[in-house]
Amino acid sequence: MLRRTKIVATLGPATDSLETLIDMMRAGLDVARLNASHGTVEDRRRRLALVREAAQRADRCVGVLLDLGGPKIRIEGFRDGRVLLAEGAVFTLDTELDPKAGTVDHVGVAYKNLPRDVVVGDRLLLADGQIVLDVERVGATTIGTRVRVGGELSDRKGLNRQGGGFSAPAVSERDREDIQFAAEVGVDYLAVSFVRQAADIEEARSLLRAAGGEARIVAKIERHEAVENLAGIIEASDVVMVARGDLGVEMGYAELTGLQKTIIHETRTHNRVVITATQMMESMVQNPAPTRAEVSDVANAVMDGTDAVMLSAETATGRYPVKAVEAMAEVIGGAEKYQLTHTRHRQLIIEGQFEGTEEAIAMAVMHTANHMKVRAIVALTESGATPLWMSRIRSDIPVYAFTRHESTRRRVTLYRGVYPVIFDVTSPDSMHELYRALFKRLLELQLVKKRDLVILTKGELSGVQGGTNSMMILKVALD
Ligand code: PGA
Ligand code: MN
Repeated sequence: MLRRTKIVATLGPATDSLETLIDMMRAGLDVARLNASHGTVEDRRRRLALVREAAQRADRCVGVLLDLGGPKIRIEGFRDGRVLLAEGAVFTLDTELDPKAGTVDHVGVAYKNLPRDVVVGDRLLLADGQIVLDVERVGATTIGTRVRVGGELSDRKGLNRQGGGFSAPAVSERDREDIQFAAEVGVDYLAVSFVRQAADIEEARSLLRAAGGEARIVAKIERHEAVENLAGIIEASDVVMVARGDLGVEMGYAELTGLQKTIIHETRTHNRVVITATQMMESMVQNPAPTRAEVSDVANAVMDGTDAVMLSAETATGRYPVKAVEAMAEVIGGAEKYQLTHTRHRQLIIEGQFEGTEEAIAMAVMHTANHMKVRAIVALTESGATPLWMSRIRSDIPVYAFTRHESTRRRVTLYRGVYPVIFDVTSPDSMHELYRALFKRLLELQLVKKRDLVILTKGELSGVQGGTNSMMILKVALD
């Protein structure tokens, strides 16, 4: 059984050897994530080169996602690197303080607008919510707070407000440099952090297109405002990420599980792709095996219908990056096995109108595939649009995206149940010749056996985007 749900893994110091990357790819890594929150553009360039080399050596098609740092608001540093905040103490955030001069009484904040974004009574969260401050005074450049939940606080920790509402724009100055880089090297996905509204996605997309980049845009849902504007953001983006780290801080973690289900459902309904992220196997940063709670979390995301699950620190800085990917692949396999026996052939209630020919063909294919003994679906595709429609419908039949474009092959690595195959027969002399080439490819990759049934979709003219207008049911033969 092929694994259908895809694995995104973040690169970092722990994945900086070619051997580790090759092993991660063999273990099931589908998309590599470059995190622009840390390091320099040069670090990302070096890591990207390593990914491309490893993919070639492992003979795997691996997509690349560049995740922009975005306007994450952080405190500056402390004189001694860290302080211990006591509950009930007074602590001041100061936009004028020297970045290295923090003490147990106060710390600097680079975001100059902060005093205008908060009011007395607000609750501020530091270090992913581990430390909680109540705002008691707001001056021109300072915010006086009382420590509600104390603890150790170190340099450059993130700062959020419960309920959201910080007004920093989603595409920061620093992000522009990364967008240029994304265009230059041709990453497959560009993730926008701290999105508030659809316009943030459009801004990132137009900057990327102006720089010549073709990447699909990922909207990270991690702000209160994004939850309010969810429908518009989904519509404006290609992929949505349930960014549970910051989202849990802004919304309160008790809201997370329900939100995850809503976001996954809404995203799939709109024919968009969805990634579930953050702390999925967090204990594997230290340990060679996940906890039962983590196993259950990954499995539930699969059952919710996510296209991909993501590893962050587990692979970027963890002790067991390869084992983390292995464990994830194994848990996905178990979850998909359960799901098949319980939801098979029941997920085909399609309501409303089809948007166009491609969707109509894709739905007809999935309906047929789920009611007939078909071994594989083969979509001859230019952009990957038809396989995307197909992958919105649950089924256990693999969808092979046959395409001559490397960028399309890398794009579909993120789509649930879709697998890229190199195929370059653009102008066959006859249909017979096309089928022969296709069957030959399927057989040599051992994806089918002779006499299996496969469904083929294609357009009249191969080489034209958006042209899929027919489906055929074929018996594999080589005569
Ligand atoms: P991050 O995004 O890892 O860039 O913070 C994901 C999240 O917030 O969950
Ligand atoms: Mn985040």
